[in-house]
Amino acid sequence: MRFNTRLIHDAQPPDPLTGAVNPPIYLSSTFRQSAPNRHRGYVYGRTGNPTRAVLEAALAALEGGRAGLAFSSGLGALTTLLEQFPSGSRIVAGDDLYGGTWRLLDHHRRQFGVRVEFVDLGDPAVVAETLARPADLVYLETPSNPLLRLVDIAAVVRRARAAGAVVAVDNTFATPALQRPIELGADIVLHSTTKYLGGHSDIIGGALVLKEHRAAARYAWLQNAVGAVPSPFDAYLVLRGLRTLGVRMRAHEEAARAVAEELEGHRGVRRVFYPGLASHPQHRLARRQMSGYGGIVSVELRGGRAPTLRFLRRLKVFTLAESLGGVESLVDHPATMTHASVPEAERLAHGVTDGLVRLSCGIEDPADLVDDVRGALRGT
Ligand SMILES: *Cc1c(COP(=O)(O)O)cnc(C)c1O
Repeated sequence: MRFNTRLIHDAQPPDPLTGAVNPPIYLSSTFRQSAPNRHRGYVYGRTGNPTRAVLEAALAALEGGRAGLAFSSGLGALTTLLEQFPSGSRIVAGDDLYGGTWRLLDHHRRQFGVRVEFVDLGDPAVVAETLARPADLVYLETPSNPLLRLVDIAAVVRRARAAGAVVAVDNTFATPALQRPIELGADIVLHSTTKYLGGHSDIIGGALVLKEHRAAARYAWLQNAVGAVPSPFDAYLVLRGLRTLGVRMRAHEEAARAVAEELEGHRGVRRVFYPGLASHPQHRLARRQMSGYGGIVSVELRGGRAPTLRFLRRLKVFTLAESLGGVESLVDHPATMTHASVPEAERLAHGVTDGLVRLSCGIEDPADLVDDVRGALRGT
């Protein structure tokens, strides 16, 4: 069946006990055993919960993996992923990452003796050179946050295989509706379900999806051992969001395209970053690797901090807030908000300047979003 049908039906059968078309929220921390260690698959709520299990099976099916694991946040998922890599491991990571991801990788480097190198995985020469030596994990985001740079997943997977590394892809921006890294050879997909999968800015959550059975068993063990699991209610809300992912992503994209086109060519704008624009340096890769371009547009305004802060003040429909991927439009100033934990020199070297603004286009009427950015740019 096609993706939008699978979003609603895959691994989400009506409740076998009652026929309820929505999965019940099992608010139980523990489960009765008929004799010691004889049970129906559920023992203790950290280890497993039936509502969470429905979400995990749905995530696995949509990403094309062997198993899904749900977490209490995207960084909870990343923490659990990194537990697999002891001191001395070599991790090659992209150099344009969510700020909190950068912070956690840097923490592991300082605290636990893991070797972490941040490199431009969008540059084939850099990928070839970096992965000419053995590595344990290649970690990337595509499109990246906040610069919407792309990484050729299949090409990196080929190099990583030769280096003996597993490949993990943060698929938060694209979602499985637009890009499925496991089909391109990746071993692990990570999500902040806080964003598009939840889709309504009402929960914090994360997920891992594993391609192989053995890794799935190992990470299920780590999920229980580390314990960063979501509540059954949060698992339910992600499931509820998932069902409308297809229509929401279409609407997000329609809005993002309209906003990107409005911004491009405005004299107050230095550069627009959106993979759907022909001017994006990796537009062809986006067309090949993704089935759509998503809802995030970044823009670099001219004149640095002062006109940028004025632009942010003047927006009326876009709300100034961290996060992205909800039905409402949000605007972020990475330099002072989401990416403030990245040291200034590092940030500037990678293009996260004081004039950079990240727009998460919601599913309001695109014309209102276009009017909003046009009005906020007036006089610049
Ligand atoms: C938000 C985000 C994360 C972190 O997820 P949390 O749910 O906030 O812990 C990781 N990666 C990307 C791309 C994100 O946008």
